[in-house]
Formats: sequence, structure tokens, C-alpha cells
Amino acid sequence: MNKKTVKDVELNGKKVLVRVDFNVPMKDGKITNDNRIVAALPTIKYILENGGRAILFSHLGKIKSEEDKASKSLRPAAERLAELLGQDVKFIPETRGAELEAAIAELKDGEVLMFENTRFEDLDGKKESKNDPELGKYWASLGDIFVNDAFGTAHRAHASNVGISANLEAVAGFLLEKEIEFIGGAVDAPQRPMVAILGGAKVSDKIGVIENLLDKADKVLVGGGMMFTFLKAQGKNIGKSLCEEDKLELAKALLEKGGDKLVLPIDTVAAKEFSNDTEFRVVSVDALADDEMGLDVGPATVELFSNVLKDAKTVVWNGPMGVFEMSNFAKGTIGVCEAIANLEGAITIIGGGDSAAAAMQLGYADKFSHISTGGGASLEYLEGKELPGVASLSDKCCGCGCK
Ligand code: ADP
Ligand code: MG
Repeated sequence: MNKKTVKDVELNGKKVLVRVDFNVPMKDGKITNDNRIVAALPTIKYILENGGRAILFSHLGKIKSEEDKASKSLRPAAERLAELLGQDVKFIPETRGAELEAAIAELKDGEVLMFENTRFEDLDGKKESKNDPELGKYWASLGDIFVNDAFGTAHRAHASNVGISANLEAVAGFLLEKEIEFIGGAVDAPQRPMVAILGGAKVSDKIGVIENLLDKADKVLVGGGMMFTFLKAQGKNIGKSLCEEDKLELAKALLEKGGDKLVLPIDTVAAKEFSNDTEFRVVSVDALADDEMGLDVGPATVELFSNVLKDAKTVVWNGPMGVFEMSNFAKGTIGVCEAIANLEGAITIIGGGDSAAAAMQLGYADKFSHISTGGGASLEYLEGKELPGVASLSDKCCGCGCK
């Protein structure tokens, strides 16, 4: 990565502003999954061990009304962080003002402070989400250096990332660095053969990803609901399967552009209702009845995809192969997940919220080289788009020795 990281800057005695992604799931004021807090620990610990004074902040959910504030406070996240770090985390229930400024002034080397949900600022004219320049400038004035470790919001230009970077030297934390190295490495300089496997509900969500990966990958395997728009574009009867009529022309163009590179399923698991309690059958993609819908890829397709995956040195997976939430239609996703997880000597990456959830649910999380923490951000990265939260960080030295 050509961006500076926490390792490239002096931290000792510095007030270090750290944008983390503590947008954790909560129920009744309790955190139900602390993965994101755990994932930020290496950066926070490194700053503290090197004598920095860490000032942490994050968004949590969306804030549309005064009532949202009660359930969207970062206090529980600060408490969980204190447990994980084994040290005090001073929580300031404000996003600006005298109390926050005084607490920062009192902070000592190696101590941690966390302030309130950055989106509390959205109640007053969406200042955070619309990157109000005054807000970014104000937050920047609170510290000496800015560390961005929030990959999950790197695809958005908000005051708490881009707004601060405009006013202060900004570097990447370890989590953000890891995401960029894995996803960027896989897309821009992959070990070949590189195989992309794409699924999920809609072609329209993933057009950019398919287009970009058709240029970069050696094979692109398509499953999930979006396979049917492609199959229909080939003239097949897809019955009641998911189809985006307005994307048929585009699907035709992608099929033409992709040629042998684009591999489609040969069989599907079909049912008459969108339900786990209905009858289903495995059927060739050429034999769907008018009243059936395809809800998963079939076993022959899993075998076909597994054969393509067998020789891969880099695999990028985005999107489940079927309606994996229903057990009768989860076998395609499980089969593909297993095929990727069992590859030896390949770099394997999952980018996409539902596919990551599927892999974790199946107990394969450890078998992948990297599971991205940011669904939206990883998708935009796979599309080849520049992420504003990354672009706004300071570039690494060109080799002249400057710091
Ligand atoms: P990701 O979050 O990994 O990027 P998406 O959000 O694009 O994935 O898509 C996931 C959704 O796609 C799941 O809820 C799944 O049920 C749905 N899906 C997959 N295959 C089908 C299908 N054949 N018909 C309808 N929905 C499908
Ligand atoms: Mg999703």
C-alpha cells in the first residue's frame, strides 16, 4: 500500500485521533457481536504501547431523531473496549465542547478516551454524513495526528474521515491496511489463476463488480439470484426465478464480453414457493417449469465450480449461491464455501456481508485468508473505485527518505 500507516509516524506524547468502526450490532443496550472492536485492538494497542494518547470515535447506526440517541450511544462499546484492553477507557458523552476538550487536555501518554457517536452531529444538518468542513476542522483541532482504521466507512466521505484528513496528517491503522493489502492485492496484482465467484440477489447491485472482475480475473463464476438474468439473456426459460428485466441487455453484453471466462450454473434447486416448507427438486437450467423458481445452484454446478476453483491461486468470493437462509437452498453456498476453504496454497478472500456471515455460520472463518469487515466498502473496492477514506491518507515516501 502506498499510504502511510501508524508505523510511519511519531506517536510518543501525541494526541492521536483514531477513527474506528465500532458500528456493532446491539440488542437492549448490549453488544451482540464485538468482532469489530476486537479487530481494532492491534492499532489501539500499538498506539498506546508507543506512548500515544488515543482519542477514539466512531459512528453507530443512523441518527434521524433525538430519540435515536438513547439506543445509539457508544458507551457500551467503550465499556467493552475497556474489558478487552484491560485498562480504563474514559467515555465522554459529547461530540464536541468544553467537557471533551478538558478531558483531552488531561489525557496522559498511554491513556484512552472515547467520545460519542459521530452521527449525533447528523441531527443538525447532517454535518457528519455530509462532511461539513467546519466539523472536520474542529475534530482535527483536537489532536496532533489522525489514524483512520475504519475500513467499513472508507467508501464514504464523512467529516470523521475525509473531513479530518483535510486538516491534519492522516495515516492508516492496521485493520485498514490489511483490508487494502488483501483486497487490493487480489484485484490489482493477483497470483494466477485468479477466480472470482459472485452471487447474491441482484445483478444491479454487482454490475460494477462483474465488469471490473471480468477484466482482472481469469474466470468469473456466477451463481445466486443474479444467475437467472444471465440465463434468460441466453434465451432460457427461468420460470418465476428472480430476474431484472431492465438488465437483460446488459447481461447479454457481459456474456459477450466475458466469453469462456464467464461461467454460469448448469443446474438449480427449484421450488414453486419461496419457502423452506415447500417441495423442491434439482433440475437442469434448461428444464425449469413456468411455475418454478430457482433458489440455489445444484450439485452439478457445485462440482463444475469446484473444478474451476481447484487450480486457483487467488479467489475472491462475493455473494451467496442461493437462498442460504433456508436450509433446503443452502447446499450450493455450503459446497462452494467448502471448496474454497479447502484450497491449499491459495489466497482466499470474502468481500460481502452475507457471504461473510455464511462462512462464519458454517464454521469456515479460519480457513479463509481474509474476510473483509466492510461489505459496502469491499464491494466498491472490487468495482475498482477509489475509496475516499483511503485516498485522503498521506502517501508513503517516494523513496527519497522524507517522513
Ligand atoms: P453479499 O452481502 O454477500 O454481498 P447480497 O446481499 O448481494 O450478498 O445477496 C444476499 C442475498 O441473496 C441473500 O439474502 C440470499 O437469500 C439472496 N439470494 C441468493 N440466491 C438467490 C435466489 N436464487 N433467489 C432469490 N434470492 C437469492
Ligand atoms: Mg448483503
